[in-house]
Amino acid sequence: VKIAVLKETRANEKRVAMVPSVADKLSKLGAEIHMQAGAGTAVKLADAAFKNVKFSADPLELVRDADVVLSVQPPEAAVVDAMKPGAILISFVYAHKEADLTRLLRDRRITSLAMELVPRISRAQAMDALSSQATLSGYYAALLGATHLARILPMMTTAVGSIRPARTLVMGLGVAGLQALATARRLGAMTEGYDVRPETKEQAESLGAKFVDTGVDARGAGGYARELTPEEKDKIASVVTKHIQQADMIITTAAIPGRPSPKLINRAQVDGMKAGSVIVDLAAEGGGNCEYTQPGETIQVGQVTIVAPLNVPSLLGEHASELYAKNQFNLIELFLKEGAIQLDWADEIIAKTALTHDGKIVNEAAQKVVG
Ligand code: NAD
Repeated sequence: VKIAVLKETRANEKRVAMVPSVADKLSKLGAEIHMQAGAGTAVKLADAAFKNVKFSADPLELVRDADVVLSVQPPEAAVVDAMKPGAILISFVYAHKEADLTRLLRDRRITSLAMELVPRISRAQAMDALSSQATLSGYYAALLGATHLARILPMMTTAVGSIRPARTLVMGLGVAGLQALATARRLGAMTEGYDVRPETKEQAESLGAKFVDTGVDARGAGGYARELTPEEKDKIASVVTKHIQQADMIITTAAIPGRPSPKLINRAQVDGMKAGSVIVDLAAEGGGNCEYTQPGETIQVGQVTIVAPLNVPSLLGEHASELYAKNQFNLIELFLKEGAIQLDWADEIIAKTALTHDGKIVNEAAQKVVG
């Protein structure tokens, strides 16, 4: 079985879908690993760091006879065109943003396993790249916010008196939000969290944070949140505004699958924030959680700084690559048996992660969007 690993080509993408320890483990499973030259250099992994791996400079050459192709971002169309029919692609795809590529994968009869489709079930946790990358983003958001403040996070007793700890509010307590809460707390901040799924109250409290209870329950399908009604939005604003305006640092992470980022902070709320406060908007990729957010930019609105970084995991590329490569390894282990590929379509993980197979788009949601 030949596994090919691509060098990422998209702007600001430093990650790589292979690290030396995973290459070793795949070799032991009987796979032959081929990588594109320089694939790891952006995260300081020189080609020489990989043992038992063959390198080639040309990505088209690399994938031509590969049984499995690995990358982080979806590959370029020319690469898919060069793959052999029946080969397996494993990467993030995001079909709703990549309609043409999804149709190409279908028409080229590629079996694509889309990392964003890995089901959120216990057995798949070790394959869940959304979670591994979101954890890193949440951590980074707390650090980024801290460096944009002109004050410190912890309480500090000095010869000239005590400094009060900074107040941090995290809005959206999924994987990233909980890690942001934990990190801000470790840095000494007073932490508060808010979400529209009531089960997050206990999770926030277990991290030493206060839960801002709005009384709204917007649990949707599959453990995700649903969109709010105008009445719910008003009810939330009446509770949350005070917390927004008392905060020194706000980290927002809210997302609804397949929808633009919900707006959690409106302009008037920002205008009433404390001078010198900072919002880190982790939802910038989907348009942002704050009405003022400009994805990819750091802006000043009055005395408030709004930071909206894109592709945050790539900024922690070394660990992001390591966790991502391990997630992919655990997925590959499901179907690489005794040196051969055996996809078990009765396995929920394979069935749900598959986007295209055998000339068809097999994911229902993607079918509707892509056609
Ligand atoms: P996500 O990135 O989809 O969303 C982030 C958070 O934003 C969520 O907690 C969501 O409730 C919240 N949100 C949405 N709209 C909001 C609003 N208007 N106001 C406030 N908050 C809002 O979430 P995620 O990190 O991908 O996690 C989604 C779910 O999957 C969670 O229930 C999580 O516990 C679960 N999960 C399960 C597993 C597993 O069992 N293997 C693994 C990872 C995540």
